[in-house]
Amino acid sequence: MVVGRHRNTKAIINLGAIAENVNLERKQLAQGQEIFAVVKANAYGHGLLPVAKTARKAGATGFCVAVIDEGIALRQAGFVNETILVLGVSPSSEAVYLAKNNLSTAVSTIDFLQAAQPQLSQAGLKLRVHISLDTGMGRIGFKESQTLRKAVDYMHEYPEQFEFEGIFTHFAQADSADSSYYQQQLAKFKKLTEGLTLPRYVHVANSAAALWHKACGGNVIRYGITMYGLNPSGNELEVPLPIKPALSLYSELVHVKKIAAGESVGYGSTYTAKKSEWIGTVPIGYADGWLRRMQGFKLLVAGKYCETVGRVCMDQLMVRLPSQLPIGTKVTLIGKDGENEITAQDVANYAQTIHYEITCCLSERILRKYQD
Ligand SMILES: *Cc1c(COP(=O)(O)O)cnc(C)c1O
Repeated sequence: MVVGRHRNTKAIINLGAIAENVNLERKQLAQGQEIFAVVKANAYGHGLLPVAKTARKAGATGFCVAVIDEGIALRQAGFVNETILVLGVSPSSEAVYLAKNNLSTAVSTIDFLQAAQPQLSQAGLKLRVHISLDTGMGRIGFKESQTLRKAVDYMHEYPEQFEFEGIFTHFAQADSADSSYYQQQLAKFKKLTEGLTLPRYVHVANSAAALWHKACGGNVIRYGITMYGLNPSGNELEVPLPIKPALSLYSELVHVKKIAAGESVGYGSTYTAKKSEWIGTVPIGYADGWLRRMQGFKLLVAGKYCETVGRVCMDQLMVRLPSQLPIGTKVTLIGKDGENEITAQDVANYAQTIHYEITCCLSERILRKYQD
């Protein structure tokens, strides 16, 4: 179901920018390295399939998703042979389903392997495993050399059920000006993998490591936020490549009226006009992922900054206009209009979060329109 089609609020996704951002990284690759496009969470809100197709065309050879169903959606859409890695922890009861769909899976415990083995054996299927190492992210993965070795040995004991395809870790601070924690994690990764016969894929780099720690090694870059044209560090570090943001968000005024001094706007009547003024209504709200805390944020209406007044509602918000403007006047929430621009980073700063969260939270009610 497409729920946002008959609506004047739209995200415009510039696929050309995504292709260009993949190309920029492709030119940075060392010999033997490849790019896995990270397309979890509906491609960070940009739309799974159009982004994945664009990334593939631009040279990405594999994909990372967070959950099994995202991987299945790719397989069903014709991504038949590409490596698709499920980064999150999958239930061991899904091992046969993973194997049947040729999805590679992150594994963090020997328990998973032991629970999966008889099921896979019975089904006559082999599961592609990427061993996850917790080198300091504190999220998933093996932490100790001994348990890691046991798991690897276990896979080798059951070569009909397991293909040890990859080993990886994830950095907690590759986007920080202070690189000491990153260095510690990299050292821990090297120590844990020392003496192991390495599988086909060894990967440590997210976007941040690919940009600021090119020497981190591995033969796969898990390329996420930078593919969408956003700076992994927010404002902290400068991106050394001319990446382009792919997403803009537009709407229109759907109602315009003059209110008198003393009249108020929105739930809780938190805004009261001090003099008579023009108020416009914009059809986007927190159910679209435009957070309630965006009250007070300035949107571009016909290219001019206009303050959001009153509380952001579930489906609508109100702005104070400089003068009477016609219904249908363009409202820019993320993107450029003339000289002025609102970036996802601006929105994130105002909402006291990161731009990842801003684009991911745009709900399915917002139609994505794709441009080449
Ligand atoms: C989400 C994720 C990435 C991508 O991170 P970016 O900062 O968007 O590049 C890479 N690796 C893992 C394990 C992830 O969970």
